[in-house]
Amino acid sequence: MIQQFYPQTPHTYRFELNKDMHLSAAHFIPHDDAGNCQYMHGHTYFINITIAGDELDEMGFLIDFKVIKNLIHKKYDHTVLNDHPEFKQKNPTTEQVAETIWSTIQQKLNTLSNQPKCIQVVVRETPTSYVVYRPKAEDLL
Ligand SMILES: [Zn+2]
Repeated sequence: MIQQFYPQTPHTYRFELNKDMHLSAAHFIPHDDAGNCQYMHGHTYFINITIAGDELDEMGFLIDFKVIKNLIHKKYDHTVLNDHPEFKQKNPTTEQVAETIWSTIQQKLNTLSNQPKCIQVVVRETPTSYVVYRPKAEDLL
């Protein structure tokens, strides 16, 4: 099934983990040019998060899978994305949802001693549409 295919991102880290999740959320794009997307509607978003690094923590994790799930799924599942403060200034388009997920995760990773990096976020909004967000090298310093 096409939803199980993910684009790969090349890197030279020793470890790479991927966390899949899906969440139900509503959104709308408040812009005259957004067509039907101006009106509130819902999606089941399929999300894939790729985290890489060379070092593990004292438990042997790059990062605990449930930490990632709690950061994203708990926050957005069964919510209206437009209600979140981060989507007041920027619209919850698939692109900006992917970028926001990346920055939320990377901010958390920056607090960890083993310094893992979020190198890719895939957000699938519909069976036929998805966005890939990849940070620039300077975003990961
Ligand atoms: Zn939509």
